[in-house]
Amino acid sequence: MRIVADLHTHTIASGHAYSTIQENARAGREKGLQAIAVTDHGPSMPHAPEPFYFGNLHTIPDVIEGVRVIKGVEANITGPSGTLDLPERYLERLELVLAGLHAESIRPSSVEENTSAILGAVRHPLVKILVHLGNPQFPLDYEAVVRAAAQFGKVIEINNSSLVRSRQGSKANCLAIARLCRRHGVPVVLSSDAHFSGHVGELDEAVRTAAEAGLEPELIINLSMERVVGILRTSGARVSARDGRVRDCAGSE
Ligand SMILES: [Zn+2]
Ligand SMILES: [Zn+2]
Repeated sequence: MRIVADLHTHTIASGHAYSTIQENARAGREKGLQAIAVTDHGPSMPHAPEPFYFGNLHTIPDVIEGVRVIKGVEANITGPSGTLDLPERYLERLELVLAGLHAESIRPSSVEENTSAILGAVRHPLVKILVHLGNPQFPLDYEAVVRAAAQFGKVIEINNSSLVRSRQGSKANCLAIARLCRRHGVPVVLSSDAHFSGHVGELDEAVRTAAEAGLEPELIINLSMERVVGILRTSGARVSARDGRVRDCAGSE
């Protein structure tokens, strides 16, 4: 299984991560990736960047160290109706919006309330990927979440860091979610959630979990740059006005 893009990485801008965009891009190249997404935490996380940081990401080149750098955010869900911590006018300028639950931004609650928060984010038109749903700190009705993801065309992440470094006790949940994705035909991404450049592209446990769940390669978005580009907002996909074809697939123009 050859992963071509790592769609969840953090930089020093997150306040608790330790590498720059350039270092992450270089690490991605060394791991053989064609793309990485820069997805720093939304502003409600302590020491996370202000909205203006996300508004200015367009100044970064599309290709750094030979790797396509996708500009995104890991937005925090901040309330039971799925509100996000980055205003819409910033979200809509980004190529990729991830959304997830973090105890720094929302209090862990009952299965009903946690699920309601996630379902609100699922219905948000600018959210594309739901991250680390297997976190045992936030118990969820996985069946309801995966069904909603199928209905609203969202992608579910299998977070490698949850399996090797953080959010202990995620493994059985992640496997259950992956099996539901298979059953309901929901696409997944395998992501590192790197907070240090050395962890960019580190995906072995996520790959193992996907295999254990029997996920068909067709459902794994980041096995193909074409599929990755397909989930970006059109600003990132750079669809040619002339022939309607995506011309920025592998990152060069
Ligand atoms: Zn973090
Ligand atoms: Zn997270």
